Amino acid sequence: MGHNLEGRMQSSSGQPASKKTMVQRQFTRLHALLHTVFQMLQEAKLINYESFLPSIRYPTMNPHATCDFHMRTAGHSLDECLKFKHKGQDLIEKRVISITGGKMNIIA
Ligand SMILES: [Zn+2]
Repeated sequence: MGHNLEGRMQSSSGQPASKKTMVQRQFTRLHALLHTVFQMLQEAKLINYESFLPSIRYPTMNPHATCDFHMRTAGHSLDECLKFKHKGQDLIEKRVISITGGKMNIIA
């Protein structure tokens, strides 16, 4: 009868550990642009959809929301998609995309 209510911050299940230390990551103005970024990445075929692992707990679970990045799995919206935020931030850090003045550009 495991009634696990504490929000466990586990990131060790199957995911390769990031080389970087787990510092609080700055999401470069990504939040307001998530949908735009997603659309542009989609058009540029720079995005790989992911299947949603139910083991990942989202701080905001919304059974009515669906996430495009997670192949429309219910539970969260793209705005709340931690995975996609990290994805976008990766692309910024790899200089595949840039965000300047509230606009996103694909560099690659
Ligand atoms: Zn998602």
